[in-house]
Amino acid sequence: MIYLKTEDEIEMMRAANQLVGCTLAEVGKAIQPGVTTRQLDKVAEEYIRDNGAVPTFLGFPNPYGSSFPASICTSVNDQVVHGIPNDVPLQEGDIVSVDCGTLLNGFNGDSCYTFCVGEVSDEVKELLRVTKESLYLAIQAATVGKRIGDIGYAVQSHCESHGYSVVRQFVGHGIGREMHEDPQIPNYGRRGNGALLKNGMCIAIEPMINMGSKDIYMMPDKWTIRTKDGKPSAHFEHTVAIHNGKTEILSSFEKIEQLGN
Ligand code: MG
Ligand code: MG
Repeated sequence: MIYLKTEDEIEMMRAANQLVGCTLAEVGKAIQPGVTTRQLDKVAEEYIRDNGAVPTFLGFPNPYGSSFPASICTSVNDQVVHGIPNDVPLQEGDIVSVDCGTLLNGFNGDSCYTFCVGEVSDEVKELLRVTKESLYLAIQAATVGKRIGDIGYAVQSHCESHGYSVVRQFVGHGIGREMHEDPQIPNYGRRGNGALLKNGMCIAIEPMINMGSKDIYMMPDKWTIRTKDGKPSAHFEHTVAIHNGKTEILSSFEKIEQLGN
């Protein structure tokens, strides 16, 4: 069931998502060689709570009976999504995707950004550039009257034309009072296929793009997803609202990009 949001609800969604954008920028300020992802998690949790919100990911359940033990997902290099913050220092040349969710006044924010740690290779920079581009192409395709398949097609055609591959097992989603609502938003698809996009829909669009093959596996921790071939993976996510015939990005990379990342 797809919940269409009122303008008042979209206003609340905007606030929760702006907070995610600010949190990711705070995390971004702390990212450098030598810092651990556990330290980044602390930065995020404190900032979210100081701003009157709750980190949605902390305690989030998975189908294996395990609760996520941190406030952000930190997925390094060949980790695709759901990496658990730990005490391993980040190294020059790493990439780390930081996925963050906040619950503010009953509504959810959700956004992800893949950061460079120091100087990374041109090959990896290109993966990040193309993945981020595919997110914005997908947002452009997410307009009233288009369909879910148009969003996935935009991501898939752009990334595959650069020789990258699209993760199939994890997808974007509707978002509102719940972090994951209907409909699912795959990063692959056929134009003109799937549910119709309507005013009042709030969706998280989140391409997860592998430099090599699309195949992935789960670590024994039952959370961390990695590429099978060990090649890096990138993840960018915005929450958007379709309303008044327009598509508005509710989250923001503005403060992150001001840091030069
Ligand atoms: Mg997310
Ligand atoms: Mg999401």
